[in-house]
Amino acid sequence: MKNIVENYINGARKSSTGGATQDVFNPATGEAIAQVTMSTATDVSTAVQAAKEAFPTWRDTPPVKRARVMFAFNQVLQANTDKIAETLTREHGKTFEDAKGEVIRGIEVVEFACGIPQLLKGTFNEQIATGVDAHSVRQPLGVVVGITPFNFPAMVPMWMFPIAIACGCTFVHKPSEKDPSASLLMADLFKEAGLPDGVFNVVQGGKEAVDALLDHPDVQGVSFVGSTPVAEYIYKRGTNSGKRVQALGGAKNHMVILPDADLDQAADALMGAGYGSAGERCMAISVAVPVGEKTAEALMERLVPRVKELRVGSGMEPGMEMGPLITREQRDRVASLVQSGVDQGAELLVDGRGLVVSGCENGFFIGACLFDRVSTDMEIYKQEIFGPVLATVRVESYEDAVALIEGNEYANGTAIFTRDGDAARDFVNRIQVGMVGVNIPIPVPVAYHSFGGWKRSLFGDYHIYGTESVNFYTRLKAVTTRWPAGIKEGAVFNFPILT
Ligand code: NAD
Repeated sequence: MKNIVENYINGARKSSTGGATQDVFNPATGEAIAQVTMSTATDVSTAVQAAKEAFPTWRDTPPVKRARVMFAFNQVLQANTDKIAETLTREHGKTFEDAKGEVIRGIEVVEFACGIPQLLKGTFNEQIATGVDAHSVRQPLGVVVGITPFNFPAMVPMWMFPIAIACGCTFVHKPSEKDPSASLLMADLFKEAGLPDGVFNVVQGGKEAVDALLDHPDVQGVSFVGSTPVAEYIYKRGTNSGKRVQALGGAKNHMVILPDADLDQAADALMGAGYGSAGERCMAISVAVPVGEKTAEALMERLVPRVKELRVGSGMEPGMEMGPLITREQRDRVASLVQSGVDQGAELLVDGRGLVVSGCENGFFIGACLFDRVSTDMEIYKQEIFGPVLATVRVESYEDAVALIEGNEYANGTAIFTRDGDAARDFVNRIQVGMVGVNIPIPVPVAYHSFGGWKRSLFGDYHIYGTESVNFYTRLKAVTTRWPAGIKEGAVFNFPILT
């Protein structure tokens, strides 16, 4: 009998009313290691109801007391980092060290949320007219929802719920059905930290659960992170039913390498950013853009041996640099995209297909692949591959590099490698992309700067975490006050002008 990954509602595990389940795999071995409950609309209603009932008390809990729960949560997360990371590696496949990094980046947001009394401070103006004062406050939205992807089962949820909950909202999390167990670990740790029941709930499942959350009249806000087609769908359906929605989508991130760059540094950066987590990161670099033939040749010379030497294996084996992909289907999809690149005329300098990892023969592995001379009409350029495949598009000039990036439908992250301050400054200023790195390949903002792409990488007006999330999870209220001791004007029928 396999372990069932259940829902977590009102402080306790709860099985689904429908009884349907889906297998959860260990991608390194290919074995089904658990089954996840696939929630129905009824389960969603139960979870939303629990969150709705918990809201009035949590909303009225002083922010400093909510912050104390965050301080305690921070401590239990620190104490359990290895345990969470092991769960991530087991179900996602990324290396244990990478998984620990994910947890630590998530904890940063909890640390930020500890400052919520300061972040929620309103503004006050005395005497805006004789005897009249004005102030503005931010109040929590109510029940909010987080729908998250498979690739960061701990960090991406932590981009959402620590700030939502610190703001006074109550939360329903819908994790990815591919690696759902971290959500329950998180729920248990939150309870240990003193979070009241009903404030944080988890509904497992897929589209049925998501649609029920999007349509539920008691849900006020939806944070989504995942692929672009689903992000667009979530944004449209959620806003249609009157909710506030932020939906972060997919990416195709370019790294420009100028002729004056430190090419060893650039090659190392491309290795980590292209192949770390097997390329399953929305901030992975999937396109290398060397400027000039000489730069391209020198870069390939450095990259090819590095890619060939990449250590690929089970994420729990020390020293591994890359693990498997999330599913067998995704591994096969990546392999067929690689074939399409060959068929469409790109030069495959390193072919990782057919890799067999000893002891993990049934795992969902594909080795690192490196393409040169890719053009923009090829599928490997057009699609977000989400695998360990780096495409090189050679360009003649810096302006061509900028035009290439501008022509792409995605605009999540980008980077430039150069020693030229003028070029870097121009790039930072002009490029139409949400997150930019200068000699930094994966410019994921820290918790107190917000994260978000432009164009088809984000639907909605708010970026995620940082102060943007404080605004997303709260509504502004402006109050104008006069006390009876003020001037008595009698009835005023004209539009009020305060003097
Ligand atoms: P996905 O879009 O398939 O799934 C995301 C979530 O949506 C999951 O919880 C899933 O259950 C649900 N879902 C899937 N299909 C649905 C449908 N048709 N209707 C309603 N709900 C649905 O994404 P994924 O494969 O889990 O994650 C990888 C994608 O996420 C990549 O495109 C990656 O770029 C993106 N991503 C983006 C960011 C970012 O910050 N922009 C961060 C991480 C991942």
